Amino acid sequence: MVVLEASLATCVGRSISVRHSPISYLSREIVNSRVWLFIKEIFMSKTENKTLKSESTESTNESPNSVKDLSELGFDENLDGILKSLKEPSGLILVTGLSGSGRTTTLYSMLQELRNDSRKIFTIEEPIHKRIDGINQTELEGGDGLHYSAAIENALKQDTDVIFIGEIRNLETAEMAIKASLSGHLVISSLQTKSAPDTIARLLNMGVSETNLSQALTCVINQKLLNRICDRCREVDKKVTPAHLAKFGFKKEHLKNINAYIGEGCDACDQTGVGGHIAIHEFIKISEPMRNAIRNSWPLEDINRVAVENGMRTLRQSGLDRLAQGIVSIYEVL
Ligand SMILES: [Zn+2]
Repeated sequence: MVVLEASLATCVGRSISVRHSPISYLSREIVNSRVWLFIKEIFMSKTENKTLKSESTESTNESPNSVKDLSELGFDENLDGILKSLKEPSGLILVTGLSGSGRTTTLYSMLQELRNDSRKIFTIEEPIHKRIDGINQTELEGGDGLHYSAAIENALKQDTDVIFIGEIRNLETAEMAIKASLSGHLVISSLQTKSAPDTIARLLNMGVSETNLSQALTCVINQKLLNRICDRCREVDKKVTPAHLAKFGFKKEHLKNINAYIGEGCDACDQTGVGGHIAIHEFIKISEPMRNAIRNSWPLEDINRVAVENGMRTLRQSGLDRLAQGIVSIYEVL
């Protein structure tokens, strides 16, 4: 594939390193398990697509089935709200979290959900983590704000319903994402933030238009991965007393029904006591009180208060739910 990419680049008289230029990017699209390569050049004053198409015999190992269904990701009571947001014709959906929070898994599950709904999807990714048959995936390398803006500008000229932008890292990309969602597209993107309210505060601090953000934003999901207790060696953690659990805010009447568990360690988990991960989530469906908070550029503590008043369960509460269910140990939510 790399050789083919290099030869395609040579065909348009440029070296492969030109892919780092803000005006040139490589696009891959998978149709019927074949990989199609496009080299597209975007000029900032006028847009011209010189498209060379070549077919590779390389098949992808990934199938759509390798992407998990949204219902498998543990969204519980938030799943309906997320699915409703995905049904909207336009708006901005943000999936956020720190590095290693499982955002990519959620994002691709969303893309698959939209693909199953026959929506036309254009992605701008850096890099492409998974390939999904039937959607137009574009890969940027070394994408700065200008690079992303040019690619989003190009996406807006396509006949597309959904635009997926890998990550918002700067004001320019944020403003383009908002512009695209206000022009009738459903835009999905992500940010590295530690909470859902922090995501909104971060965008406001970047300097986006408060009015435009309040109109565009549909929902924010923030997530974190916790270690799941190994099923094979799970046992009651005798060190954790009801008094310990009471300090976490569990109500007295519930304490007698809650046991804290831990993985003792076994051959199946290499003596770690851990059997994979489970995601915990915060979900803000943007309601009128939150739109008002955004329009008025309220500080993080006020955005946090409005979110909780309107039903957001915090990451900590979500983690305590998993503790009470015996899925994670108390040490994951300390
Ligand atoms: Zn084990």
